[in-house]
Amino acid sequence: MSENCLFCKIASGAIPAKLVYQDDDCVVFHDIHPAAPVHLLMVPRHHIASMQQVEAGDAAWLGRMMALVPQIALANGCNPGPEGGFRLLANSGKEGGQEVNHLHFHIIGGKRPWQGHTAPNA
Ligand code: 5GP
Ligand code: ZN
Repeated sequence: MSENCLFCKIASGAIPAKLVYQDDDCVVFHDIHPAAPVHLLMVPRHHIASMQQVEAGDAAWLGRMMALVPQIALANGCNPGPEGGFRLLANSGKEGGQEVNHLHFHIIGGKRPWQGHTAPNA
């Protein structure tokens, strides 16, 4: 736990979030400002600043987290099959656009009308 780290506090339960999944490695919760119908954040429980700090020794926990992404995406509203899908994104470092300096993966999905989907009754 890193002092004054927002995602350490969410992972420990000190700050509330809408959790959808948790295990020994990670927690997954809804982004407070969703950018799409589905917008989750997957956060390792231990503090690591970003993908810039990841090393070969991190392969096990990182691999377990990545292997969970498809089922968490589907269980939380991402659409299945080739017509569905999701975006998995890790902004890393200042030049990578990262704002919260605790590694996190955005899981973003659902239909996004601004990308040209036709409304059902149009
Ligand atoms: P970044 O820009 O670092 O990749 O993404 C940080 C994300 O954290 C943003 O999408 C932002 O909306 C989200 N976020 C910031 N503060 C909170 C918070 O207190 N709770 C939750 N659930 N999400 C947050
Ligand atoms: Zn942290």
